[in-house]
Amino acid sequence: MVRRRIILSGIVQGVGFRPFVWRTADEMKLTGFVCNTGASLLAEVQGEEKETERFLRRLLAEAPANSRVEEVTVYEAPVRAETGFRILKSRSGGQQLDLSPDLAMCDACRRELTDPSCRRFGHPFISCTACGPRFSIAAAIPYDRENTSMKAFDMCCECKREYTSPADRRYHAQPVSCLSCGPVLTLSGTDLKNLSAIEKARELILGGGIVAAKGIGGFHFICDARSEAAVKRLRKIKNREHKPLAVMARMETVPGFAAVSESERQLLSSPAAPICLLKKGPDYFLAPSVSFDTGYIGVMLPYTPLHYLLVREGDVFVATSGNFSGEPICYSDEDAETSLGPAADGLLTHGRRIMMPCDDSVAGITKAGLQVLRRSRGYVPESVTVFVKGKKPADILAAGSDLKNTICLKAGSRYILSQHIGDLMNPKNYDLFLRTIKRFGAIFGREPETFCCDLHPDYLSSGYAAGFGKVIKVQHHAAHIAAVMAEHGLEGPVIGVAFDGTGYGTDGSDWGGEFFAGMPHRFRRLYHLETVMLQGGDRASEEPERSFVSYMLHCGEDTVCDPLLKEALVKGINVCPSSSCGRLFDAAARACGIRCPQTYEARGSIIFEAMAEPCDSFWPVEIKNGEVLTAGLVPAVARALAEGAAPGECASRFHRSLAEAVLGTCIRIREETGLGAVCLSGGVFQNRLLSDTCFGLLENRGFEVYTGNRIPVNDGGLALGQAYIGQLLYEEDD
Ligand code: ZN
Ligand code: ZN
Ligand code: FE
Repeated sequence: MVRRRIILSGIVQGVGFRPFVWRTADEMKLTGFVCNTGASLLAEVQGEEKETERFLRRLLAEAPANSRVEEVTVYEAPVRAETGFRILKSRSGGQQLDLSPDLAMCDACRRELTDPSCRRFGHPFISCTACGPRFSIAAAIPYDRENTSMKAFDMCCECKREYTSPADRRYHAQPVSCLSCGPVLTLSGTDLKNLSAIEKARELILGGGIVAAKGIGGFHFICDARSEAAVKRLRKIKNREHKPLAVMARMETVPGFAAVSESERQLLSSPAAPICLLKKGPDYFLAPSVSFDTGYIGVMLPYTPLHYLLVREGDVFVATSGNFSGEPICYSDEDAETSLGPAADGLLTHGRRIMMPCDDSVAGITKAGLQVLRRSRGYVPESVTVFVKGKKPADILAAGSDLKNTICLKAGSRYILSQHIGDLMNPKNYDLFLRTIKRFGAIFGREPETFCCDLHPDYLSSGYAAGFGKVIKVQHHAAHIAAVMAEHGLEGPVIGVAFDGTGYGTDGSDWGGEFFAGMPHRFRRLYHLETVMLQGGDRASEEPERSFVSYMLHCGEDTVCDPLLKEALVKGINVCPSSSCGRLFDAAARACGIRCPQTYEARGSIIFEAMAEPCDSFWPVEIKNGEVLTAGLVPAVARALAEGAAPGECASRFHRSLAEAVLGTCIRIREETGLGAVCLSGGVFQNRLLSDTCFGLLENRGFEVYTGNRIPVNDGGLALGQAYIGQLLYEEDD
């Protein structure tokens, strides 16, 4: 007879772990107990040695679907006289660092939802230990009902019985409720409730109306994706002219308008249930205004019971965040009533408060696997763990970038990246930035004294960090590469290729086409894309014409253009050196004949990518004095087009040429340094054709290639890289 004390940490609370331990022990006739302690799950188990070992193996092998065990520690404990296995009350103390993300409705709940004989038939808030809101309803730790917005709802006897029975699949599921005790869904302008409110809302939508509906992390605007008039009106309301809109449809409906591979199917139906970027299918039938510009359509499944009841088989509804362009997602009833309500034809809402706004995540499947582009609902606050050998882990807060801001709280070896906050130039977003920092500190019980921020002197996020004692400034593109390294637990040294729109370089110029080598906190910038004198400063990204003319003149090619722009360039008025890959793309897209207004970020480049296809021919790029001479690709595109090449062919060749330049430069760095691991990051690698081509070429030549999978390659992942570099530098100072 032996007794073992087992400590599990990771995502082990709020996902049905204790009842699972109880069931397993009970079944194996082992005695002991299980409980949550602040940071982890503690179990003591007593029985024959062989059996306790088998028990431990089963715990790891059969762990609940949404749990993630990060660490297991097993101690010997003195044998006790006891009978049975019990679940004990939570013990406080320690820090809880692994609050579960919000989880999409599970299959078991879906069956009950649609089964008229079940008591939760048609209950828009059905959930269990395997599914339902978590992060978005949590106000504090530990994750217990009193600390969530479900506190406002008293459980009825039957719900209470399920909640307190270890054998029940709703045992300690904090959001558990039913039609008689849970939140009630209402539709504005009617007396309808729950299912009938949903049915009426669906009628409004199918009739061409727009409904604002409260989801998990905020409100959506919802309208019929087949109605051009409704979609156009929605765009007007949101002040969003061209940027593609996401749609919601049941799995059975998706293949009717989009191509879905097996891995995309899995991503769509994963507990995170993100918006998944799918190729439009041959029978694509959505209204033209849903998605212009690209060959992709963002699709998500109805991931809550509310959405599942609203979006029936055959329905395809636009479901886009309930906000006005540039502002954060609306998540409080007060805000919804004053701002969204008047704009929509109906407001579908309920009394379960959202404690933390959380947009839908956006992801896709690339050659490198999963690529999360906007990391929010379903992924946040999952942590990334990086241990650095022999060093003391510091608590750090990284403030991120000003665009696509997220923050990162580093608590010991855990890095917790926040949900998408947005562009800090908007005061509402900046306010959310401050609140998120506060809330993260409170939820995870840390108050870091060390702050990391971008090197850019004018960033609001940097200004915020500067208000505190110890500030570590991190170069933008080094942080992009470090984020990939942290995600994959890489200590380095590596080769880092950062292709980005913009970022402040250590020489004060605009970077964005870097080839680094070394350890992330001591990167050497061995090569970079050709530096071009760019006219227009920040306006260049909004007016691709400026980049185009700058590149053409740089290459000694005359071009017909605004004489004032030419004069400014020749005289050097408002020009600055730039090696930005984003501006190179803007210029090349314009050279390829794309002259659309840049109504959203990188629009021209996105259209350019959509025109291109994988191809084998390319324009060779030279490397000279540390510069990868890519500027000449712009006149090359213009020339090919003038000589009669199809725009699609020019676009293909440009992508291939750039990828070949990446390969050539990495081969050279490998020869010089012996390094064989390459990390690809920066916003430009959201371009799937470019990242897939680079990935394929590099792997073929024996490189180990890494890129952002669960962490965005765009600025949404920056704070993680800042915190990682912060840790490495912090240790050096000590
Ligand atoms: Zn469930
Ligand atoms: Zn109930
Ligand atoms: Fe960036």
